[in-house]
Amino acid sequence: MKCPYCGKEMVQGYIQCRDGVRWTPKLQLVSALSFLGRGSVSLENGTELENQAVYAYNCENCKKVLIDYSESQS
Ligand SMILES: [Zn+2]
Repeated sequence: MKCPYCGKEMVQGYIQCRDGVRWTPKLQLVSALSFLGRGSVSLENGTELENQAVYAYNCENCKKVLIDYSESQS
């Protein structure tokens, strides 16, 4: 994947979290993360450990990480 900011090739890797990787509009208590708050978006995108890891692309040039969750099932 090409970096949308600088156009250089990004490095594919993972972001992992024991309780799943989600985007949320508001901070939630870590102990309550399994609760699906309003507006919570699962970032699952097809890894083997789909509830604990998502693919993420790192641009070392821009110091930005991009997660594409268009493959998400939920
Ligand atoms: Zn970049």
